[in-house]
Order: sequence, then structure tokens, then C-alpha cells
Amino acid sequence: MDSAKRHTRKIRVGTLELGGDAPIVVQSMCATRTIDIDATVSQAHQLSHAGAGIVRVAVDNEREIEALKEIRRQTKGINLSVDLQENYRIADKVAPYVDKIRYNPGHLHHIERAKPIPQKVKWLVDVARDHDIAIRIGVNCGSVAPSFLQKFAGDQLAALVESAVYHCELMDEFGFDRFAVSLKDSDPAKVISANLQFSRRRPEVPLHLGVTEAGLPPDGIIKSRIAFEKLLSQGIGDTIRVSLTLPNERKHEEVQVGHQIIRDVAAGRFISVPDFGSGLNIISCPSCSRVENERFVELAEQVKEITAYASRHRITIAVMGCRVNGPGETDDADLGLWCGPTTVNLKKKSHKIGTFRYEEVLPRLKLEVDKLIAEQQASG
Ligand code: SF4
Repeated sequence: MDSAKRHTRKIRVGTLELGGDAPIVVQSMCATRTIDIDATVSQAHQLSHAGAGIVRVAVDNEREIEALKEIRRQTKGINLSVDLQENYRIADKVAPYVDKIRYNPGHLHHIERAKPIPQKVKWLVDVARDHDIAIRIGVNCGSVAPSFLQKFAGDQLAALVESAVYHCELMDEFGFDRFAVSLKDSDPAKVISANLQFSRRRPEVPLHLGVTEAGLPPDGIIKSRIAFEKLLSQGIGDTIRVSLTLPNERKHEEVQVGHQIIRDVAAGRFISVPDFGSGLNIISCPSCSRVENERFVELAEQVKEITAYASRHRITIAVMGCRVNGPGETDDADLGLWCGPTTVNLKKKSHKIGTFRYEEVLPRLKLEVDKLIAEQQASG
């Protein structure tokens, strides 16, 4: 049972309905390599058995498109979604094999720079229509379209919300209403504000909720709960994803946690964590097929362990699994690590400190944490 009446329109995604009075859908994403068909099929079933209504797969290139065809064949009963990431042009190649495509308005400028954004979106809409599938417009604080960042300089939240609203208007213009929207950030407070603002502007549009890069459990669960409880209890949110940094064999826990949060909100059971996130804050991505070294999850766990001594200091450390989103998504953190195949890049805000082997990076990180603490103490 949902805790508050939702007023969004209902859309179809494969075999399920999303929005309106349909049950809130819990979804998740495969973290296996997409070209490893057996592992990805197995994880899609693992997530589906745990109760995922939609399973997302990362597809970036021709080899992954080929793999997707076979993955689709072996996951017939599962609703699949694909993230287009920086190459929206693969949409027509993946569309025959999925039930939903997600595009990020902040990534559309990467290719065909001279082509106007509405023209690109119109093409995506035509692809979705031709293949009878849904769209998610997924905006993310770490990758807001440059034109909106310029227009709303200094107000990232406004840029995020306005970018989402603009893309809804494009959908209206092209007569397409089978779409949902997500507005994500790693900070639960920003997720709450963005979704409240957006739902006031476009109350009929189904919303996908997520705290991106929430990190390792239990902190990642707490961050997701803080945002979801606040929004779901107000009837905002038609589908949720809990993004946790977990090894592959435990990936289904994301789905179990999602269902638990929905049950708790429906029953009026809310958690209270005063001042959560006011000290050391470690954000880490949930990993996906783009992770270039499987040691990523272990690295995130080690970062948590070796920095535990700094728990009372207001420091944010971001740990990201790949070069696609790693460089951008670590810019706002005090210290950021993003993983390559054999090395880890360490940053202080947007400044690169250096590239280190996996076994070298932790002592260097500790050194940088110590320096930050000393700086904070010096400034009182
Ligand atoms: S940062 Fe990279 S590896 Fe991590 S979830 Fe995002 S795309 Fe996947």
C-alpha cells in the first residue's frame, strides 16, 4: 500500500505500469560486464527474483549491443532498460531489445555538437515511438547540461530542475507522453528539493527517485531512506532505485532495501538520524558494467576503513568506478578517487593530485585526509 495518493499519469514499461495508482516499482542495474552475457543474464534474474520490476543494463558500443540481443533472448520475462550515456546515437540499435531507454540531457552535447538539442530529442522520441518503448529523462547534478549551468550560474539545483522541465516541454512539443523523469544527486537534501520543485511544476509526470552514489551500506541505505521517506510520504515517486556499492553477489540487496523502504513508509515507520552526513561523508557509485577493475568495491570499503578515524570531520570523499562519470562526479568532493584498469586517479576538488597503483593510493589518500584535517583545524 502506498502512503499517499499519487497523481502522475500511468505509463507502460514492458509488462508493467508506472505512475498513477500502480504500485511503486523498485528497479536496479546490472553491475556485470555487459559483454559477459552469462554473468549479466544471471544478474538480471538475481535482481528480478529479488523484486526488481525493471533491470537496467549499460550499453556503450557495438560489442555490448550484440551482447544485449542475446541478453534480451535469455531474459524474456524481465523489463529491460538501457542507459544511453554519452552516445545517444545508439538508441535505435538498442531499442528493439529493451522496454525503456534513459537519456541524460547533460550528455546530449557530446556528439554532433552542431545539431540542435530539440532535433536530437525528436529523434529519440521517434525511436521510442517506432519501437513502442518508454523513455526516462534522467538529469543528474554531476552532469547538468552546460547551457543550463551557464543560464543558472551558481544555482545548480535550479539548473537541474529547469533542464528537466525543458525536456518535458520538448516531449509535449513532440506529442510523446510515455516518459518518466529522474532528478538525482548524491546529497539526499538536494534530491528532496529537486523532486519537490519538479513535481510542483509537472505534477503529472511519473518520477523515478534515486540518491546517486549513495555508497556502501549502511550509510548508502540511510541516505536513500532520508530522501525517499520524505518524498514517498508526500505521494512523490513512482519508481525507486537504491544505489549501493555492493559486490555482484550481493547486488540484489538494493532491491530488497527498496521494497523495505516502501513498506516502512506505507506503515508510517520512519527513521530519524539527526545530523547524518554532518561529519565524514563517503559517496561511492553503485558500479556497473563500465567498472574497469573489479577491485573497485573493495577499494571503496578500504577507503571507508582507513578514513574512519576522521569520522567527525566535515570531509566528503567520492569513490567512482570508471572514467565515464568518475572525473566529473568527483569534482565537488573534497577528495575524489576514480578507477582506471590498473591505476586510481586521486583528486582534491577538481585538481588532480596524481595517478597511483591500487596498492599505493590508500596511504596517499590518508595523507591528504590528514592535510585537510590540519587545514580545517588551522582555520578554526
Ligand atoms: S561511475 Fe562509472 S562505474 Fe560507477 S555507476 Fe557510474 S558509470 Fe558505472
